[in-house]
Amino acid sequence: LAERLQGTLTKIRGKGKVSEQDIKEMMREVRLALLEADVNFKVVKQFIADVKEKALGQEVMKSLTPGQQVIKVVNEELTALMGGEQSKLAVSSKSPTVIMMVGLQGAGKTTASAKLANYLRKKHNRMPLLVAADIYRPAAIKQLETLGKQIDMPVFSLGDQVSPVEIAKQAIAKAKEDHHDYVLIDTAGRLHVDQELMGELSQIKETVEPDEILLVIDAMTGQDAVNVAETFNDQLGLSGVILSKLDGDTRGGAAISVKAVTNTPIKFAGIGEKVDQLEPFYPDRMASRILGMGDVLTLIEKAQTNVDEAKARELEKKMRTADFSFDDFLEQLEQVRSMGPLEDLLGMMPGMKKNKGMKDLQVDEKQIGRVEAIVRSMTKKEKQDPSILNGSRRRRIAKGSGTTIQDVNRLLKQFEDMKKMMKQMTGMQSGKGRKRGKG
Ligand code: GDP
Ligand code: MG
Repeated sequence: LAERLQGTLTKIRGKGKVSEQDIKEMMREVRLALLEADVNFKVVKQFIADVKEKALGQEVMKSLTPGQQVIKVVNEELTALMGGEQSKLAVSSKSPTVIMMVGLQGAGKTTASAKLANYLRKKHNRMPLLVAADIYRPAAIKQLETLGKQIDMPVFSLGDQVSPVEIAKQAIAKAKEDHHDYVLIDTAGRLHVDQELMGELSQIKETVEPDEILLVIDAMTGQDAVNVAETFNDQLGLSGVILSKLDGDTRGGAAISVKAVTNTPIKFAGIGEKVDQLEPFYPDRMASRILGMGDVLTLIEKAQTNVDEAKARELEKKMRTADFSFDDFLEQLEQVRSMGPLEDLLGMMPGMKKNKGMKDLQVDEKQIGRVEAIVRSMTKKEKQDPSILNGSRRRRIAKGSGTTIQDVNRLLKQFEDMKKMMKQMTGMQSGKGRKRGKG
Protein backbone atom coordinates (compact mmCIF):
# COMPACT_ATOMS: atom_id res chain seq x y z
CA LEU A 1 0.00 0.00 0.00
CA ALA A 2 2.65 2.42 1.08
CA GLU A 3 4.70 1.92 -2.04
CA ARG A 4 1.83 2.31 -4.39
CA LEU A 5 0.53 5.48 -2.79
CA GLN A 6 3.98 6.86 -2.59
CA GLY A 7 4.46 6.39 -6.28
CA THR A 8 1.40 8.43 -7.05
CA LEU A 9 2.22 11.05 -4.50
CA THR A 10 5.75 11.39 -5.78
CA LYS A 11 4.40 11.98 -9.24
CA ILE A 12 2.15 14.73 -8.04
CA ARG A 13 4.62 16.19 -5.58
CA GLY A 14 6.91 17.34 -8.31
CA LYS A 15 4.24 19.45 -9.91
CA GLY A 16 3.74 23.12 -9.31
CA LYS A 17 0.05 23.10 -9.84
CA VAL A 18 -2.54 20.40 -9.42
CA SER A 19 -5.54 20.40 -11.67
CA GLU A 20 -8.86 18.77 -11.01
CA GLN A 21 -7.74 16.09 -13.41
CA ASP A 22 -4.66 15.44 -11.27
CA ILE A 23 -6.78 15.06 -8.17
CA LYS A 24 -9.03 12.66 -10.00
CA GLU A 25 -6.10 10.62 -11.17
CA MET A 26 -4.52 10.64 -7.76
CA MET A 27 -7.74 9.60 -6.08
CA ARG A 28 -8.13 6.72 -8.48
CA GLU A 29 -4.73 5.47 -7.38
CA VAL A 30 -5.50 6.02 -3.72
CA ARG A 31 -8.74 4.13 -4.14
CA LEU A 32 -7.00 1.17 -5.79
CA ALA A 33 -4.31 1.18 -3.16
CA LEU A 34 -6.80 1.08 -0.33
CA LEU A 35 -8.84 -1.67 -1.95
CA GLU A 36 -5.69 -3.65 -2.53
CA ALA A 37 -4.92 -3.31 1.15
CA ASP A 38 -8.27 -4.95 1.85
CA VAL A 39 -9.95 -1.89 3.22
CA ASN A 40 -13.70 -2.26 3.27
CA PHE A 41 -15.11 -0.92 -0.02
CA LYS A 42 -17.78 1.21 1.62
CA VAL A 43 -15.12 2.84 3.72
CA VAL A 44 -13.01 3.48 0.65
CA LYS A 45 -15.88 5.04 -1.23
CA GLN A 46 -16.71 7.46 1.54
CA PHE A 47 -13.07 8.26 2.03
CA ILE A 48 -12.46 9.15 -1.59
CA ALA A 49 -15.53 11.34 -1.70
CA ASP A 50 -14.44 13.23 1.41
CA VAL A 51 -10.90 13.79 0.21
CA LYS A 52 -11.97 14.95 -3.24
CA GLU A 53 -14.31 17.49 -1.80
CA LYS A 54 -11.83 18.84 0.71
CA ALA A 55 -8.91 18.93 -1.70
CA LEU A 56 -10.87 20.79 -4.31
CA GLY A 57 -12.53 23.26 -2.01
CA GLN A 58 -9.31 24.40 -0.39
CA GLU A 59 -7.64 27.67 -0.88
CA VAL A 60 -4.12 27.05 -2.08
CA MET A 61 -1.61 27.95 0.57
CA LYS A 62 1.47 29.78 -0.51
CA SER A 63 3.75 27.71 1.69
CA LEU A 64 2.62 24.40 0.22
CA THR A 65 2.54 23.12 -3.28
CA PRO A 66 -0.90 21.87 -4.29
CA GLY A 67 0.53 18.36 -4.32
CA GLN A 68 1.54 18.71 -0.70
CA GLN A 69 -1.86 20.03 0.09
CA VAL A 70 -3.57 17.02 -1.38
CA ILE A 71 -1.23 14.79 0.61
CA LYS A 72 -2.17 16.72 3.69
CA VAL A 73 -5.87 16.23 3.11
CA VAL A 74 -5.41 12.52 2.39
CA ASN A 75 -3.48 12.19 5.62
CA GLU A 76 -5.97 14.17 7.68
CA GLU A 77 -8.89 12.16 6.40
CA LEU A 78 -7.08 8.90 6.95
CA THR A 79 -6.33 9.96 10.50
CA ALA A 80 -9.94 10.90 11.12
CA LEU A 81 -11.04 7.59 9.68
CA MET A 82 -9.01 5.76 12.29
CA GLY A 83 -10.46 7.76 15.13
CA GLY A 84 -8.46 10.97 15.07
CA GLU A 85 -7.13 11.10 18.59
CA GLN A 86 -5.30 8.47 20.58
CA SER A 87 -7.91 6.62 22.61
CA LYS A 88 -7.15 5.95 26.26
CA LEU A 89 -7.90 2.91 28.39
CA ALA A 90 -10.85 3.15 30.79
CA VAL A 91 -10.29 3.53 34.50
CA SER A 92 -13.06 2.36 36.78
CA SER A 93 -14.16 4.61 39.62
CA LYS A 94 -14.04 1.60 41.90
CA SER A 95 -11.04 -0.69 41.81
CA PRO A 96 -10.31 -3.00 40.16
CA THR A 97 -10.82 -1.95 36.56
CA VAL A 98 -11.84 -5.08 34.68
CA ILE A 99 -10.68 -5.68 31.13
CA MET A 100 -11.85 -8.59 29.05
CA MET A 101 -9.78 -9.66 26.06
CA VAL A 102 -11.72 -11.29 23.25
CA GLY A 103 -11.02 -12.39 19.70
CA LEU A 104 -10.47 -15.29 17.36
CA GLN A 105 -7.95 -18.02 18.06
CA GLY A 106 -4.41 -16.98 17.29
CA ALA A 107 -5.30 -13.30 17.13
CA GLY A 108 -2.92 -12.56 19.97
CA LYS A 109 -5.17 -12.30 23.05
CA THR A 110 -2.90 -14.12 25.46
CA THR A 111 0.15 -12.22 24.28
CA ALA A 112 -1.73 -8.92 24.38
CA SER A 113 -2.95 -9.63 27.92
CA ALA A 114 0.60 -10.03 29.16
CA LYS A 115 1.76 -7.03 27.15
CA LEU A 116 -0.98 -4.85 28.53
CA ALA A 117 -0.26 -5.94 32.10
CA ASN A 118 3.38 -5.09 31.55
CA TYR A 119 2.46 -1.76 29.99
CA LEU A 120 0.12 -0.80 32.83
CA ARG A 121 2.74 -1.50 35.42
CA LYS A 122 5.68 0.08 33.60
CA LYS A 123 3.92 3.19 32.27
CA HIS A 124 1.18 3.75 34.82
CA ASN A 125 2.51 2.11 37.92
CA ARG A 126 -0.46 -0.25 38.13
CA MET A 127 -0.64 -3.71 39.62
CA PRO A 128 -2.76 -5.87 37.32
CA LEU A 129 -3.86 -9.44 37.87
CA LEU A 130 -3.77 -11.68 34.80
CA VAL A 131 -6.55 -14.25 34.58
CA ALA A 132 -6.29 -17.46 32.57
CA ALA A 133 -9.85 -18.08 31.40
CA ASP A 134 -9.11 -19.98 28.21
CA ILE A 135 -9.65 -23.57 29.30
CA TYR A 136 -10.03 -25.01 25.81
CA ARG A 137 -6.88 -24.37 23.88
CA PRO A 138 -4.22 -26.86 24.99
CA ALA A 139 -1.50 -25.20 27.02
CA ALA A 140 -3.26 -21.83 26.97
CA ILE A 141 -3.06 -21.55 30.74
CA LYS A 142 0.58 -22.58 30.71
CA GLN A 143 1.28 -19.97 28.04
CA LEU A 144 -0.11 -17.16 30.18
CA GLU A 145 1.72 -18.43 33.23
CA THR A 146 4.99 -18.47 31.34
CA LEU A 147 4.42 -14.92 30.14
CA GLY A 148 3.48 -13.90 33.68
CA LYS A 149 6.75 -15.29 34.96
CA GLN A 150 8.66 -13.42 32.28
CA ILE A 151 7.29 -10.08 33.43
CA ASP A 152 7.13 -11.16 37.05
CA MET A 153 3.41 -10.66 37.42
CA PRO A 154 0.81 -12.89 39.09
CA VAL A 155 -1.49 -15.09 37.00
CA PHE A 156 -4.77 -16.34 38.41
CA SER A 157 -5.86 -19.77 37.22
CA LEU A 158 -8.04 -22.63 38.42
CA GLY A 159 -6.93 -25.17 35.86
CA ASP A 160 -9.09 -26.31 32.95
CA GLN A 161 -11.82 -28.09 34.86
CA VAL A 162 -13.57 -24.99 36.18
CA SER A 163 -15.84 -22.95 33.89
CA PRO A 164 -14.45 -19.65 32.54
CA VAL A 165 -17.36 -17.77 34.14
CA GLU A 166 -16.44 -19.18 37.53
CA ILE A 167 -12.75 -18.44 36.99
CA ALA A 168 -13.52 -14.84 36.12
CA LYS A 169 -15.76 -14.43 39.14
CA GLN A 170 -13.24 -15.84 41.59
CA ALA A 171 -10.46 -13.82 39.98
CA ILE A 172 -12.26 -10.56 40.72
CA ALA A 173 -12.69 -11.57 44.35
CA LYS A 174 -9.02 -12.47 44.55
CA ALA A 175 -8.02 -9.16 42.93
CA LYS A 176 -10.01 -7.21 45.52
CA GLU A 177 -8.45 -9.20 48.32
CA ASP A 178 -4.92 -8.58 47.05
CA HIS A 179 -5.59 -4.96 46.04
CA HIS A 180 -4.97 -5.31 42.35
CA ASP A 181 -6.16 -2.25 40.46
CA TYR A 182 -6.61 -3.97 37.08
CA VAL A 183 -7.89 -7.40 36.14
CA LEU A 184 -7.06 -8.64 32.65
CA ILE A 185 -9.12 -11.64 31.60
CA ASP A 186 -7.65 -13.71 28.78
CA THR A 187 -10.55 -15.58 27.19
CA ALA A 188 -10.80 -18.39 24.68
CA GLY A 189 -11.11 -17.93 20.94
CA ARG A 190 -12.33 -20.02 18.05
CA LEU A 191 -11.16 -20.28 14.50
CA HIS A 192 -14.42 -18.69 13.42
CA VAL A 193 -17.05 -16.75 15.24
CA ASP A 194 -19.61 -19.17 16.68
CA GLN A 195 -22.60 -18.95 18.94
CA GLU A 196 -21.23 -21.16 21.67
CA LEU A 197 -18.23 -18.93 22.13
CA MET A 198 -20.34 -15.79 22.06
CA GLY A 199 -22.67 -17.30 24.63
CA GLU A 200 -19.82 -17.99 27.00
CA LEU A 201 -18.28 -14.55 26.52
CA SER A 202 -21.67 -12.91 27.15
CA GLN A 203 -21.95 -14.86 30.36
CA ILE A 204 -18.55 -13.72 31.54
CA LYS A 205 -19.51 -10.19 30.65
CA GLU A 206 -22.71 -10.34 32.69
CA THR A 207 -20.90 -11.83 35.63
CA VAL A 208 -17.91 -9.50 35.88
CA GLU A 209 -19.31 -6.36 34.23
CA PRO A 210 -16.04 -5.36 32.57
CA ASP A 211 -15.06 -1.72 32.11
CA GLU A 212 -13.45 -2.60 28.82
CA ILE A 213 -14.02 -5.35 26.30
CA LEU A 214 -11.06 -5.23 23.97
CA LEU A 215 -11.13 -7.10 20.71
CA VAL A 216 -7.73 -8.35 19.68
CA ILE A 217 -7.45 -8.40 15.92
CA ASP A 218 -4.63 -9.65 13.77
CA ALA A 219 -3.63 -6.72 11.57
CA MET A 220 -2.93 -9.09 8.69
CA THR A 221 -6.54 -10.23 8.37
CA GLY A 222 -7.62 -7.33 6.19
CA GLN A 223 -11.18 -7.34 4.95
CA ASP A 224 -12.17 -10.14 7.31
CA ALA A 225 -11.19 -8.03 10.32
CA VAL A 226 -14.22 -5.86 9.68
CA ASN A 227 -16.63 -8.79 9.78
CA VAL A 228 -15.05 -10.16 12.93
CA ALA A 229 -15.12 -6.77 14.63
CA GLU A 230 -18.72 -6.22 13.58
CA THR A 231 -19.87 -9.58 14.97
CA PHE A 232 -18.07 -9.20 18.28
CA ASN A 233 -19.37 -5.67 18.57
CA ASP A 234 -22.97 -6.70 17.90
CA GLN A 235 -22.84 -9.54 20.39
CA LEU A 236 -20.77 -8.06 23.19
CA GLY A 237 -20.51 -4.34 22.68
CA LEU A 238 -16.82 -3.64 22.31
CA SER A 239 -15.09 -0.70 23.94
CA GLY A 240 -11.90 -0.88 21.93
CA VAL A 241 -9.55 -2.83 19.71
CA ILE A 242 -6.00 -4.00 20.02
CA LEU A 243 -4.42 -4.41 16.64
CA SER A 244 -1.83 -7.16 16.92
CA LYS A 245 1.02 -8.06 14.59
CA LEU A 246 1.36 -4.62 13.15
CA ASP A 247 5.04 -5.45 12.71
CA GLY A 248 6.23 -7.08 9.54
CA ASP A 249 4.54 -6.86 6.18
CA THR A 250 1.17 -5.72 7.34
CA ARG A 251 -1.01 -4.08 4.78
CA GLY A 252 -2.77 -1.91 7.28
CA GLY A 253 -6.23 -2.40 5.83
CA ALA A 254 -7.74 -3.58 9.08
CA ALA A 255 -6.66 -0.50 10.95
CA ILE A 256 -8.34 1.72 8.43
CA SER A 257 -11.73 0.11 8.40
CA VAL A 258 -12.29 -1.34 11.87
CA LYS A 259 -12.93 1.99 13.50
CA ALA A 260 -14.97 3.29 10.60
CA VAL A 261 -17.29 0.31 10.47
CA THR A 262 -17.74 -0.46 14.17
CA ASN A 263 -17.13 2.98 15.64
CA THR A 264 -14.77 1.28 18.07
CA PRO A 265 -11.39 2.92 18.60
CA ILE A 266 -8.11 1.09 18.22
CA LYS A 267 -6.40 1.63 21.55
CA PHE A 268 -3.18 -0.33 21.24
CA ALA A 269 -1.01 -1.95 18.64
CA GLY A 270 1.14 -5.04 19.02
CA ILE A 271 4.39 -4.63 17.15
CA GLY A 272 6.20 -7.87 17.89
CA GLU A 273 6.13 -11.07 19.88
CA LYS A 274 7.97 -9.74 22.90
CA VAL A 275 6.06 -8.60 25.97
CA ASP A 276 7.22 -5.01 25.71
CA GLN A 277 6.16 -4.70 22.08
CA LEU A 278 2.87 -2.96 22.64
CA GLU A 279 2.21 0.70 21.94
CA PRO A 280 -0.69 3.08 22.31
CA PHE A 281 -2.23 3.43 18.87
CA TYR A 282 -1.87 6.86 17.26
CA PRO A 283 -4.14 7.34 14.25
CA ASP A 284 -2.01 10.14 12.82
CA ARG A 285 1.16 8.05 12.93
CA MET A 286 -0.62 5.12 11.38
CA ALA A 287 -1.89 7.35 8.58
CA SER A 288 1.63 8.53 7.84
CA ARG A 289 2.84 4.97 7.94
CA ILE A 290 0.18 3.86 5.51
CA LEU A 291 1.05 6.73 3.23
CA GLY A 292 4.72 5.85 3.66
CA MET A 293 5.81 9.42 3.68
CA GLY A 294 8.38 9.59 6.40
CA ASP A 295 7.87 12.76 8.31
CA VAL A 296 6.72 14.72 5.35
CA LEU A 297 3.62 15.72 7.26
CA THR A 298 5.60 17.17 10.11
CA LEU A 299 7.42 19.13 7.49
CA ILE A 300 4.19 20.39 6.04
CA GLU A 301 2.94 21.44 9.47
CA LYS A 302 6.17 23.30 10.06
CA ALA A 303 5.96 25.14 6.80
CA GLN A 304 2.40 26.04 7.61
CA THR A 305 3.03 27.54 10.99
CA ASN A 306 6.27 29.25 10.20
CA VAL A 307 5.98 30.82 6.83
CA ASP A 308 4.03 33.98 7.02
CA GLU A 309 1.64 33.92 4.11
CA ALA A 310 1.41 37.60 3.46
CA LYS A 311 5.14 38.09 3.68
CA ALA A 312 5.74 35.22 1.34
CA ARG A 313 3.41 36.75 -1.19
CA GLU A 314 5.10 40.11 -0.97
CA LEU A 315 8.52 38.57 -1.38
CA GLU A 316 7.36 36.71 -4.38
CA LYS A 317 6.12 39.90 -5.93
CA LYS A 318 9.44 41.57 -5.32
CA MET A 319 11.29 38.67 -6.83
CA ARG A 320 9.24 38.93 -9.93
CA THR A 321 9.92 42.60 -10.36
CA ALA A 322 13.58 42.00 -9.49
CA ASP A 323 13.14 44.75 -6.93
CA PHE A 324 14.82 42.54 -4.40
CA SER A 325 17.22 43.86 -1.79
CA PHE A 326 19.44 42.30 0.84
CA ASP A 327 16.72 43.16 3.37
CA ASP A 328 14.33 40.88 1.54
CA PHE A 329 17.04 38.31 1.24
CA LEU A 330 17.54 38.34 5.00
CA GLU A 331 13.84 38.04 5.61
CA GLN A 332 13.66 35.02 3.39
CA LEU A 333 16.62 33.46 5.12
CA GLU A 334 14.89 33.95 8.45
CA GLN A 335 11.73 32.29 7.26
CA VAL A 336 13.65 29.28 6.11
CA ARG A 337 15.59 29.16 9.36
CA SER A 338 12.52 29.48 11.57
CA MET A 339 11.55 26.06 10.28
CA GLY A 340 14.48 24.54 12.11
CA PRO A 341 17.92 23.38 11.10
CA LEU A 342 18.02 22.79 7.39
CA GLU A 343 19.47 19.35 7.84
CA ASP A 344 16.47 18.33 9.90
CA LEU A 345 14.17 19.67 7.27
CA LEU A 346 15.91 17.73 4.56
CA GLY A 347 15.90 14.62 6.71
CA MET A 348 12.14 14.81 6.93
CA MET A 349 11.69 14.67 3.21
CA PRO A 350 10.75 11.23 2.01
CA GLY A 351 13.59 9.29 0.53
CA MET A 352 16.20 11.72 1.74
CA LYS A 353 17.60 9.49 4.42
CA LYS A 354 17.43 6.30 2.48
CA ASN A 355 18.82 7.60 -0.74
CA LYS A 356 22.59 7.21 -0.74
CA GLY A 357 23.14 9.82 -3.40
CA MET A 358 21.66 12.39 -1.10
CA LYS A 359 24.58 12.13 1.25
CA ASP A 360 26.51 14.60 -0.84
CA LEU A 361 23.71 17.05 -0.55
CA GLN A 362 24.48 18.04 2.99
CA VAL A 363 23.46 21.50 3.90
CA ASP A 364 26.25 23.64 5.19
CA GLU A 365 24.73 25.44 8.13
CA LYS A 366 27.98 27.26 8.67
CA GLN A 367 27.89 28.64 5.18
CA ILE A 368 24.40 30.00 5.74
CA GLY A 369 25.51 31.49 9.04
CA ARG A 370 28.36 33.28 7.23
CA VAL A 371 26.01 34.66 4.62
CA GLU A 372 23.70 35.93 7.31
CA ALA A 373 26.54 37.58 9.20
CA ILE A 374 27.71 39.37 6.08
CA VAL A 375 24.29 40.75 5.31
CA ARG A 376 23.81 41.82 8.90
CA SER A 377 27.05 43.76 8.79
CA MET A 378 25.74 45.95 6.00
CA THR A 379 24.25 49.33 6.69
CA LYS A 380 20.66 50.00 5.84
CA LYS A 381 21.64 51.88 2.74
CA GLU A 382 24.00 49.15 1.59
CA LYS A 383 21.33 46.51 1.94
CA GLN A 384 18.94 48.47 -0.22
CA ASP A 385 21.53 49.39 -2.81
CA PRO A 386 24.47 46.99 -2.97
CA SER A 387 25.97 48.91 -5.89
CA ILE A 388 27.53 51.39 -3.44
CA LEU A 389 29.68 48.66 -1.93
CA ASN A 390 33.18 49.76 -2.83
CA GLY A 391 36.43 48.23 -1.63
CA SER A 392 36.58 49.90 1.77
CA ARG A 393 32.96 49.14 2.53
CA ARG A 394 33.53 45.50 1.63
CA ARG A 395 36.57 45.34 3.88
CA ARG A 396 34.56 46.81 6.73
CA ILE A 397 31.79 44.25 6.23
CA ALA A 398 34.25 41.37 6.12
CA LYS A 399 35.76 42.51 9.37
CA GLY A 400 32.41 43.11 11.01
CA SER A 401 31.10 39.68 10.08
CA GLY A 402 34.25 37.78 10.85
CA THR A 403 34.59 36.66 7.25
CA THR A 404 37.05 37.44 4.49
CA ILE A 405 36.74 39.94 1.70
CA GLN A 406 36.55 36.99 -0.70
CA ASP A 407 33.48 35.74 1.11
CA VAL A 408 31.84 39.13 0.76
CA ASN A 409 32.72 39.38 -2.91
CA ARG A 410 31.39 35.91 -3.57
CA LEU A 411 28.09 36.68 -1.90
CA LEU A 412 27.68 39.95 -3.80
CA LYS A 413 28.36 38.17 -7.06
CA GLN A 414 25.85 35.42 -6.21
CA PHE A 415 23.28 37.99 -5.25
CA GLU A 416 23.68 39.83 -8.54
CA ASP A 417 23.46 36.58 -10.48
CA MET A 418 20.34 35.67 -8.61
CA LYS A 419 18.72 38.98 -9.41
CA LYS A 420 19.62 38.62 -13.05
CA MET A 421 18.09 35.17 -13.11
CA MET A 422 14.93 36.40 -11.47
CA LYS A 423 14.62 39.09 -14.04
CA GLN A 424 14.96 36.58 -16.83
CA MET A 425 12.44 34.28 -15.25
CA THR A 426 9.87 37.01 -14.85
CA GLY A 427 10.52 38.00 -18.43
CA MET A 428 9.80 34.48 -19.62
CA GLN A 429 6.77 34.14 -17.45
CA SER A 430 4.98 37.38 -18.07
CA GLY A 431 1.36 36.76 -18.92
CA LYS A 432 1.79 33.04 -18.37
CA GLY A 433 0.43 32.73 -14.86
CA ARG A 434 2.12 32.98 -11.51
CA LYS A 435 5.29 31.39 -10.49
CA ARG A 436 4.90 29.41 -7.35
CA GLY A 437 7.37 29.75 -4.49
CA LYS A 438 8.55 26.51 -2.99
CA GLY A 439 7.27 25.81 0.51
P1 GDP B 1 -4.49 -16.06 21.12
O1 GDP B 1 -4.86 -17.39 20.58
O2 GDP B 1 -5.45 -15.00 20.66
O3 GDP B 1 -4.33 -16.05 22.60
O4 GDP B 1 -3.09 -15.67 20.47
P2 GDP B 1 -1.64 -15.74 21.11
O5 GDP B 1 -1.47 -14.65 22.11
O6 GDP B 1 -1.36 -17.10 21.58
O7 GDP B 1 -0.74 -15.37 19.85
C1 GDP B 1 -0.69 -16.18 18.68
C2 GDP B 1 0.66 -16.02 18.03
O8 GDP B 1 0.85 -14.70 17.56
C3 GDP B 1 1.80 -16.28 18.99
O9 GDP B 1 2.80 -16.98 18.32
C4 GDP B 1 2.31 -14.89 19.32
O10 GDP B 1 3.68 -14.87 19.65
C5 GDP B 1 2.03 -14.13 18.07
N1 GDP B 1 1.83 -12.71 18.30
C6 GDP B 1 0.96 -12.09 19.13
N2 GDP B 1 1.04 -10.75 19.06
C7 GDP B 1 2.00 -10.48 18.14
C8 GDP B 1 2.56 -9.27 17.59
O11 GDP B 1 2.18 -8.13 17.91
N3 GDP B 1 3.53 -9.41 16.64
C9 GDP B 1 3.97 -10.65 16.23
N4 GDP B 1 4.91 -10.70 15.31
N5 GDP B 1 3.46 -11.78 16.71
C10 GDP B 1 2.49 -11.73 17.65
MG1 MG C 1 -4.74 -17.48 23.96
